[in-house]
Amino acid sequence: MAAPSFPPLNDAYGRVARSLRVSVTDRCNFRCVYCMPEQPRWLPKDDILSFEELVRVCRVAALCGVEKVRITGGEPLARKGVPELVRMLKEVPGIRELTMTSNGMLLPRHARDLKAAGLDRLTVSLDTLDAERFLRINRRPGLEETLRGMEAAEKAGFSPLKVNAVVMRGMNDDEVGALARWARHHGRLLRFIEFMPLEGDRNWTRERVVPASEILERVRANFPFRPMPGAARTTAELYEYEDGGGAFGVIASVTRPFCEDCDRIRITADGGLRTCLFAQSALDLRGPMRAGAADAELAALLGGAVRGKGPGHLIDLPGFRRPDRAMNAIGG
Ligand code: SAM
Ligand code: SF4
Repeated sequence: MAAPSFPPLNDAYGRVARSLRVSVTDRCNFRCVYCMPEQPRWLPKDDILSFEELVRVCRVAALCGVEKVRITGGEPLARKGVPELVRMLKEVPGIRELTMTSNGMLLPRHARDLKAAGLDRLTVSLDTLDAERFLRINRRPGLEETLRGMEAAEKAGFSPLKVNAVVMRGMNDDEVGALARWARHHGRLLRFIEFMPLEGDRNWTRERVVPASEILERVRANFPFRPMPGAARTTAELYEYEDGGGAFGVIASVTRPFCEDCDRIRITADGGLRTCLFAQSALDLRGPMRAGAADAELAALLGGAVRGKGPGHLIDLPGFRRPDRAMNAIGG
């Protein structure tokens, strides 16, 4: 029997939501300066969706046409049993791509289980190759473990590995060339990310953003490259090195936003549906789910929220307002 389906998640600007980011926790073993405050106030435990609830949201979303799910957080591996969640999500019909973003610290312990559970791909975050700087940016030690985590992931079969590096002025902007060299050497797809105003410390300024144009210049000073032929315009602009040394990407959310092509929605660890990283509020799905809402009611809530999705964020423009939460509590 064919699976029932609900109307697709169309918005008012011709976009269709096909990709869902699932935050499984706001907690983290790091305190990255661009993400969370040094002293975070965690979401109440009872508010966090159970694995069954998370899977249900994904199942209903898949019935509305969502095809891709990315598990994130906070640090997803800081939540117990995430490989089991992967296994459960793998069984959801319609989800053809299941991925995860992790800071890598706990991958030596979990990489093999994640692979065995069916995770398709992994992205690991790393902003510097210098241990002291790592401590300044991540506010926890862990460079060695993170690097070991990447090796463990590759050994488990997650290859090529994607690596995310947030570039901040005065923090690691002088390391763009070195990071590119390192990623080339290891055959990892590095994506440089512009610093977005989602940090818990509330000290984002335009001056601290290193624009994509400057990141590209810094790479070019080391390795000539050209736009990757045939690369679709997605979040990351992709480039290939002219000497055949692989590729890299830039995620220019601030200076070259990709909102018009955005097919993403997000569910926070406490069950809030956000149609944009910069949404001012979330639609509560936890309450209706716990009150016994049927799948069709949840699908209608998803549909309504996506219909109300705005055209895009306004970072860099007058009138921009930050969301009410820091990145770790939204889900990156
Ligand atoms: N803890 C995991 C990690 O660090 O990979 C997953 C969650 S983290 C919020 C997801 C991604 O968002 C990471 O690659 C991180 O570097 C990025 N990120 C966090 N805060 C950011 C900000 N203010 N601007 C740009 N990227 C940010
Ligand atoms: Fe944790 Fe990831 Fe945020 Fe860093 S970016 S504090 S690792 S959730």
